[in-house]
Amino acid sequence: MQEVFSGSFTQQEPIPEAGIAAAIDVMRHGRLHRYNTAPGETAQTVLLEQEFAQSVGARYCLAVASGGYALATALRALGVTGGDTVLTNVFTLAPVPGAIAAVGAVPVFVGVTDELVLDFDDLEAKAQQARVLLLSHMRGHICDMNRLTEICEKHGITIIEDCAHTMGAAWDEKPSGRWGKVGCFSCQTYKHMNSGEGGLLVTDDPEVAARAILYSGSYMLYEQHLAGPPKEAFDDLIYETPNISGRMDNLRAAILRPQLATLAKQCARWNVRYAALEAGLRDVPGLKVIERSEKEHFVGSSFQFLLPGWSAEKISQAVECCARRGVALKWFGASDPSGYTSRYDSWAYAAPDPLPASDRVLAGLVDLRVPLTITPSEFSVIARIIREEVGRLYQTET
Ligand SMILES: *Cc1c(COP(=O)(O)O)cnc(C)c1O
Repeated sequence: MQEVFSGSFTQQEPIPEAGIAAAIDVMRHGRLHRYNTAPGETAQTVLLEQEFAQSVGARYCLAVASGGYALATALRALGVTGGDTVLTNVFTLAPVPGAIAAVGAVPVFVGVTDELVLDFDDLEAKAQQARVLLLSHMRGHICDMNRLTEICEKHGITIIEDCAHTMGAAWDEKPSGRWGKVGCFSCQTYKHMNSGEGGLLVTDDPEVAARAILYSGSYMLYEQHLAGPPKEAFDDLIYETPNISGRMDNLRAAILRPQLATLAKQCARWNVRYAALEAGLRDVPGLKVIERSEKEHFVGSSFQFLLPGWSAEKISQAVECCARRGVALKWFGASDPSGYTSRYDSWAYAAPDPLPASDRVLAGLVDLRVPLTITPSEFSVIARIIREEVGRLYQTET
């Protein structure tokens, strides 16, 4: 009998009991808005910001409504404006070019290598086209950040990090989100902490932090931001910074704080599952797993592999055959956007130039989610199913 997997790839774990209790507490007292506090009370949002800043070693942190909002706010705070160009990864998800478009700027896409990180040669070739790089650590793959820092310093490029898939990760012992001028995180349901929607922005730069707080809609109550810069940092900015509301509320912050306390443990649990998949998919003819650098302390909350040189038809068949056995694969090479995956040429508003070398990588790129509700031994079953289906199709391919 053929093995079949019957679990769900989209089911998250419940919110920890401590988060549920804290959320009920906020609902009972009714002060959901971050600036609505009783005398002597510190808002849950502020506590979250302080704890998150401490967890990554940042001076300042701002909690906002979404990861995409954090990205657009970071761009605004660095002065990116209508008509500017911004360098970004060609391999990413729609909120990233969307954040660039939100400020009226235009993305210039930089290619992806077959290790799924930014192509530094392509970056060097395009370095003159923009002064900001919105770097997406897409699917948790972190490029050589030491080398990237050198390249960007040489060309006077400022880095914003999109850490939607690298919360809790690090390169060379330094947390993801701390290499660039600004680090942006998402707390949307499928990321590493879940408040449904939400985002966090970190920086050491007092001016960037002050601008971000004012943009987010501070009602001039910025002195309540205990994880923000001192009052003087705001003095010159309050009249010139529009309010573009995107605050986080105390309910979400209450749900997130207990999750932050156990983030490292959760990341280790993701990595056990990732390792089970990797062990099961190594040495499958026709299938290439992505090799990771020793310096990369990634969080294996999703898994990618390549089917290099396969025809589109054969890859569709592989996806279909695995789906029939309960394994939900996504293919980044599909010509039409589907679910959360879309290819850069579907972002027509950005009028992207073709990137043939990246096209070849994306054409064979397959992705699966690694939810914590699926056990490591179930991931071994999932790997066996993929192995069998891919192996069988590869036989007929060659
Ligand atoms: C989820 C995500 C974001 C942020 O998305 P929001 O839904 O706005 O929180 C940014 N970049 C990537 C790669 C993402 O997957």
